[in-house]
Amino acid sequence: MTESIAIRLRGLSRHFGDVVAVDRVDLDVVDGEFLTLLGPSGSGKTTVLRMIAGFERPDAGSIELAGVDVTQVPPYGRDVNTVFQDYALFPHMSVLENVEYGLRVKKVPKVERADRARAALDSVRLSGYEERSPSQLSGGQRQRVALARALVNRPKVLLLDEPLGALDLKLREQMQVELKEIQREVGITFVFVTHDQDEALTMSDRIAVFNNGRIEQLGTPTDVYEHPATAFVAGFVGTSNLLDPAAAQLVLGRSGTWSVRPEKILVHVGDAPVPDGHHRLNGTVREVVYVGMSTRFVVDLATGGSLMAVRQNTDASHDLSHLRGQTVCLSWDPQYEYQVADPT
Ligand code: ATP
Repeated sequence: MTESIAIRLRGLSRHFGDVVAVDRVDLDVVDGEFLTLLGPSGSGKTTVLRMIAGFERPDAGSIELAGVDVTQVPPYGRDVNTVFQDYALFPHMSVLENVEYGLRVKKVPKVERADRARAALDSVRLSGYEERSPSQLSGGQRQRVALARALVNRPKVLLLDEPLGALDLKLREQMQVELKEIQREVGITFVFVTHDQDEALTMSDRIAVFNNGRIEQLGTPTDVYEHPATAFVAGFVGTSNLLDPAAAQLVLGRSGTWSVRPEKILVHVGDAPVPDGHHRLNGTVREVVYVGMSTRFVVDLATGGSLMAVRQNTDASHDLSHLRGQTVCLSWDPQYEYQVADPT
């Protein structure tokens, strides 16, 4: 069976004066998938989302929803709903009334309205909160009401524009896991915009990495993290750990720019043995940063440039700051080095 395509973008472009916000984007979003548009501020993610919703008209290209061309269709004629970061709930209405509101506007009968709103609140784990007012909820609960308000319409596609941006880190991490669970349960296609790489890696089935209005890479979180297609992706998703062509030639015997993720690099002090078959490189420790679960080392390489290595603090938490200034040997299994090519 072939997968059905919920959203198909072809040659989608949008300019604002001289600014090319979105530049010939092609993208297929599969039915039921959680797809994240990830990229730095100004890379065009929100503009793509707004064009899918119909709030913004493309200058060129086409948008299909479930196989139907909607490029010229206004927002209310598209089977999508959008959840924004600044989810404005009506303060004078209860949680249930907030969720019911869209159905009331659509003249859905009262009983059905209440049933559907309760079911939507249940799916975001807010059963029992129906009669509260928004001011009696935490930020995460308010965000879930906003989500229920969108889910109650049973859209085919839900567009989420940095919906967790206003939450503090702990709540945000908790909501990331919950949002993914909710998406799996309701089976609706989610297109999620964020500039936070951890968020994208945590929740997505696939990630489209944006840069300058274009998709630089489209792939699963593992693809994008373990096999970044370009130096930009390598740097934006994870830590940029580049071996320039001169260092790569000298150390790896390979041409081009190469990279190794910090957690794949071992740090050897003194005469500690280096595993057979590893590529190795000497350097001087510039920085030692203790970050609880792990310790990060920034090592200036004898060949020029620097690499970051990360060591899990699996043994007793001892202070490794004495390694600052010391000569160390870095090594890694060659299977973990990958080439990064910049687009021309
Ligand atoms: P952020 O994460 O900051 O929201 P983004 O990746 O979503 O960024 P967009 O909001 O899509 O980026 O903006 C892409 C580019 O288009 C930016 O340079 C932005 O300044 C510009 N832009 C977006 N909307 C408009 C507008 N209405 N008028 C003029 N320029 C705009």
